[in-house]
Amino acid sequence: MSLPSDPSNTPTGSSATEFPHDPEHDPRASYAFEREYVRALTDRIVTTTGRSVTAYAPSTGQPLATIPQSSAEDVAEAFARARRAQKAWAQTSLDDRAEKLLRLHDLVLDRQDEIIDLICWESGKARKNAFDEPLHIALTARYYGRTAHQHLDTAGRMGVFPVLTRVQVNRVPKGVVGIISPWNYPFTMALCDGLPALLAGNAVVIKPDSQTVLSALLAAQLLEEAGFPRDLWNVVAGAGRELGTPMIERADYICFTGSTATGKTIAKQCAERLIGCSLELGGKNPILILRDADIDRAAEGAVRATFSNAGQLCVSTERMFVADQIYDRFKDRFVAKTEAMTLGVGIGWGVDMGSLISQDQLDTVTAHVEDAVAKGATVLTGGKARPDLGPFFFEPTILEGVTPEMTCFENETFGPVISLYRFHDEADAVARANAGEYGLNGSIYSRDVRRARLIAGQIKCGTVNINEAFAATFASIDAPMGGMRQSGLGRRQGTEGILRYTETQSVGSQRLVPIAPFLGMSDETYAKVMTASLRLLNKLGKA
Ligand code: NAD
Repeated sequence: MSLPSDPSNTPTGSSATEFPHDPEHDPRASYAFEREYVRALTDRIVTTTGRSVTAYAPSTGQPLATIPQSSAEDVAEAFARARRAQKAWAQTSLDDRAEKLLRLHDLVLDRQDEIIDLICWESGKARKNAFDEPLHIALTARYYGRTAHQHLDTAGRMGVFPVLTRVQVNRVPKGVVGIISPWNYPFTMALCDGLPALLAGNAVVIKPDSQTVLSALLAAQLLEEAGFPRDLWNVVAGAGRELGTPMIERADYICFTGSTATGKTIAKQCAERLIGCSLELGGKNPILILRDADIDRAAEGAVRATFSNAGQLCVSTERMFVADQIYDRFKDRFVAKTEAMTLGVGIGWGVDMGSLISQDQLDTVTAHVEDAVAKGATVLTGGKARPDLGPFFFEPTILEGVTPEMTCFENETFGPVISLYRFHDEADAVARANAGEYGLNGSIYSRDVRRARLIAGQIKCGTVNINEAFAATFASIDAPMGGMRQSGLGRRQGTEGILRYTETQSVGSQRLVPIAPFLGMSDETYAKVMTASLRLLNKLGKA
């Protein structure tokens, strides 16, 4: 393994209220990527431009690597390679493809240290959040590897007439799938949607976010090591507004994860070509702490729901509704647990929260908090940037007294900031949780799981987690995941997550008699025979 690791393997920060800094044990002092390691990754980018950009480590602001850039012509070349590879790939057996996924499962677990190191350096996140990425890929690879036949085998369907008509449905690969992925979970978001696409017989061209290309390239390298042909998975690098359109012009399907604004632009372009797309977009996710919640468990879950990956997680919580009866006790516990978090450069275990990804993210988070405070919100803890730790660090922040005129009331912050609200009755809490335009993920804490399930049914979100922040659904790969309303279109994971990459083809065969007048009967007689047959089938209870 040629990546550097933290020499001290300890966090540079400590509690969220006090962050002593020890320059002697600061990994940023000794950090530098090995050139050959980076070159082996960046050689995978389809590029002829000779242009490159420098990528920086968010935790330190130091240069990380030089990333060659692709052009529209390079996108065309990537699709040409993918198309050629897909033709041969579609002829391989399902068992063969599934076996490669299971090989990837083991490979990702074996190489997790390397994967996590790279993710940490490239995204600035804490190691424990980075671990979620190989974990999610292993879960996804094993799930689809083991359930391949269940989703993709040709299946019989009811024919119009029993015995006489036989119908089968084939699952035909779409062809080449374009994936446009974000920076927040750069390894898993580059891979998790592509694995079912490959299993279904497709090839992939992927454009990762410019800030996190290396993690996506490592994913591509691991796919090849697991036995997938190299040209089946092609990586282009560059700005989304330059490469997005040439990708959509050539793709048979687009899988996009990112902001709602970009998702709408992509949906319009896909509509022009009448190709399908799935859009995993933003959220303003609510969590409900009911009066009978286990307060300690809820406070622990609330910390993970809110501050995992410094809040840069599509399913993380930004609005917390707490029952009146337990509000004060819960608030004290939640604030105490938040203040006990460690904040620092996250290459070693033991850090709870790392850096934000960029100056843009820091500006948004700062602006949301400053706007709320200026309009009368109270900061219960946090509320400040931490330039002493790194250029983009921001404290885990809890706000109270947030009102509709404040920006963070309904706009996604995508950072470590939560608004705490009190509720008196549960119907009101559900109505407030459902307010706004998003509908990605909701969480409910209650000791009465049956009642919580009933409430979950009223929450307009694609996933709802009971007594867990988000992982009960996200890590259950058999469960579809995605957004209602402005949070997206389509679903990843489960049957839905793979069938989106297939066309259904129905093949019907008819025996003995045609579905038309037969044995010389007139049209009128045929109509009578058919009518009698329909009545008989209904009497027999047939569909
Ligand atoms: P973004 O939409 O700006 O960028 C996401 C990707 O789209 C990047 O690869 C980017 O280069 C590309 N892109 C940008 N403009 C494009 C264009 N015009 N055409 C084609 N591609 C383009 O998103 P962001 O703000 O960087 O990411 C954060 C957002 O992503 C948040 O809103 C978050 O909620 C959302 N997100 C959602 C999920 C989910 O599963 N629902 C997961 C992660 C992130």
